[in-house]
Amino acid sequence: MAKSMDRIIAEAKKAQAERARSYREQALKILPWICGRCAREFGRERLRELTVHHKDGNHDNNPPDGSNWELLCIYCHENEHARIEDAKAGDAAGPGRETTATHRPLEALKDLLKKGRK
Ligand SMILES: [Zn+2]
Ligand SMILES: [Zn+2]
Repeated sequence: MAKSMDRIIAEAKKAQAERARSYREQALKILPWICGRCAREFGRERLRELTVHHKDGNHDNNPPDGSNWELLCIYCHENEHARIEDAKAGDAAGPGRETTATHRPLEALKDLLKKGRK
């Protein structure tokens, strides 16, 4: 029993990893190898440091035209998520948590960017 359960989990993990690899490959195919934040360029030998960020935070949302992807270097990617986490934390002080809250941090982020540009 436990054995087959392990196998199901292993297979699910494998499928997930394969999907992740395929959207990364696809993103690298259609997007320039440049970090969307710091504009650093990447060659093939350093491509490992370039990662795929999902603009809406949903890793299952992978439109083939790349509209939900952004290539970020590992440093900027980490920064980006730290900011999203910050926005979430700010939200938590507001009126309760919603299950559909995944899109709200991005709105907060946009506000932040707007303010920053002024
Ligand atoms: Zn960067
Ligand atoms: Zn990301």
